[in-house]
Amino acid sequence: MAVAYRLALVDDPCTDRDLPAPAAGDVALTVLDRSHALPASYAPDDLVAAAEAGLGGASGTKLVREALIDDLAAMRAAWEAAGLSISIDSAYRSYAAQAATFQDWVARLGLEAATVRTARPGHSEHQLGTAIDVSSPGWSGRFGDWARETDEGAWMAEHAWEYGFVMSYPAGAESESCFGYEPWHYRWIGRQVAADHRESGLVLRAFLERFAGG
Ligand SMILES: [Zn+2]
Repeated sequence: MAVAYRLALVDDPCTDRDLPAPAAGDVALTVLDRSHALPASYAPDDLVAAAEAGLGGASGTKLVREALIDDLAAMRAAWEAAGLSISIDSAYRSYAAQAATFQDWVARLGLEAATVRTARPGHSEHQLGTAIDVSSPGWSGRFGDWARETDEGAWMAEHAWEYGFVMSYPAGAESESCFGYEPWHYRWIGRQVAADHRESGLVLRAFLERFAGG
């Protein structure tokens, strides 16, 4: 099964094209990259507000899949126990929202620069409803290294996997992950799979390519 899934993917996934991502054994494990995309019609059927995990304020209004609420609630409790203040800046993004954002960038920068700046519609893990962009108060933006320069980012880099969340686009791995370093972007794959991923030492994309069919 896992081999069949890998064979359905192209060998040069960081080339921009719009191939359908093959159905994974579990949709949460779907491989998305610059070549493989979700269809415009895909939306999770169990989206709920992050407030269900006890997150307050603007973070609580962001939408995530109900499947990850228990793990997100446990991670939020761990943040509080560690005295950390972490917010969710973005979670579920529909295909239509991705398309609108991409068109905005194209209008401002042109197609080539826009493609570097943001995922083309269907290629974002946010459409799965399992990706979150996190930050902390006082963080000045996305140009520094949140994982190294803040206690909150360092905690996420060290502990998020214990709650099933994995950094999809780590530093120095662009040729394998197909996107630039995003220390704020975490994707939920479940606790057991996240532990297996950590053990593998692979970039998430490469790990899922082998795992998703199983
Ligand atoms: Zn993100």
